[in-house]
Amino acid sequence: MTIPTISLNSGRDIPQLGFGVFQVDPAETERIVSEALEAGYRHIDTAAIYGNEEGVGRAIAKSGIPREELFITTKQWITEQSADRSRAAIESSLEKLGLESVDLYLIHWPAPAHGLYVESWRALEQFQSEGLTASIGVSNFLVPHLEKLLDETDVTPAVNQIELHPAYQQPGVVAFCREQGIAVEAWAPLGQGKYPLFEEAAVADAAEAHGKTPAQVVIRWHLQSGHIVFPKSNHAERMAENFDVVDFELSEGEVSAITALERDGRVGSHPEDFN
Ligand code: NAD
Repeated sequence: MTIPTISLNSGRDIPQLGFGVFQVDPAETERIVSEALEAGYRHIDTAAIYGNEEGVGRAIAKSGIPREELFITTKQWITEQSADRSRAAIESSLEKLGLESVDLYLIHWPAPAHGLYVESWRALEQFQSEGLTASIGVSNFLVPHLEKLLDETDVTPAVNQIELHPAYQQPGVVAFCREQGIAVEAWAPLGQGKYPLFEEAAVADAAEAHGKTPAQVVIRWHLQSGHIVFPKSNHAERMAENFDVVDFELSEGEVSAITALERDGRVGSHPEDFN
């Protein structure tokens, strides 16, 4: 299966479909990521705060997959923001992952009450120039946070990883990112299973029409909408299901009907309040 790639403003390509490990038990991570790699995933999204970078690293090492075929993202946690703490944070992540560099390093949340994300971003610019990470980006940044970075620093983020699923699409943030050449990564692409997305007629009807599952239809909607996604599952059969989404295409009408499910249905934290 050939997974499409998206060209980042750093000059690097990212597989548009990957595997996320939020809330994957550290004790289970090596097995689960190994299964994901066996299923064909080559893009893994982790974070220091998930506590499972070591398991991701062990799965990578055991897989024998050449490093250049993998795309690994990790993230700097809020408490590690600032010029001083940033370096220890990325070094710790690299050590746990057993890697000399990651493909993408993100500021996990802007945490605006601390006022440190600009300082942290300058540190990330330095890490990129040193080759500790090929690309740098942000997560959960709203337009004012992005504007501040663009005004006060040199490198435009390669990505902004935000909560994005049919009930919560953040069109203003997405439009701003597109204008600035920042790729959009959708976290909670399946809404974390917290609302009955799969029973919506727009999703269920398209699933029936294409002989696919509702989860596959939602992932396909993301891909056709230009989002980078990394759905999470602990189960091998669902990993395979979520990866098997490149052999069909939703019609324009089906895409529009799913897009019409927007209802301001955020399932995670608000970036202004999460500090
Ligand atoms: P998700 O939308 O991927 O939902 C995962 C849940 O959906 C699973 O636990 C399971 O219950 C269900 N599911 C998965 N596949 C299914 C299938 N085929 N059929 C039925 N149900 C299925 O939510 P997520 O894990 O929160 O988001 C994906 C990734 O995004 C994370 O693992 C993480 O890497 C990233 N993330 C980032 C942030 C951030 O702040 N940057 C926050 C949350 C998640």
